[in-house]
Amino acid sequence: MSRYGSNKKTNQVIEFGGFTVIDGKNYRHALHDIGKGILCVEPTELNEHPEEIEWSSDFICPYCGHEDPDAFELSDLGETECSACGSELEYEREYTVEYNIKPIKCAPVTKA
Ligand SMILES: [Zn+2]
Repeated sequence: MSRYGSNKKTNQVIEFGGFTVIDGKNYRHALHDIGKGILCVEPTELNEHPEEIEWSSDFICPYCGHEDPDAFELSDLGETECSACGSELEYEREYTVEYNIKPIKCAPVTKA
């Protein structure tokens, strides 16, 4: 038994990387022991035809929903692979500007 449930045997040849659907539930490949013929999977979301994610403050994979905390290491524009599911992604980093304003001295006020 794995921590996610039971083991499942299959004679199907499954290439490592990507998703596997077992009994209607979606899993992403986490680990592959070729010698023992074991493929470990983790439950995941799967959207095979996702919409573009816009104006998100987090780097989220549209295919599996994984949030990449290391996305700040990426350049401002380019292509990358989701570190969880391996899907190919194109991204663009947007910057927003915010101001902090501290009051120092009010201009003279004349009360007439
Ligand atoms: Zn993903």
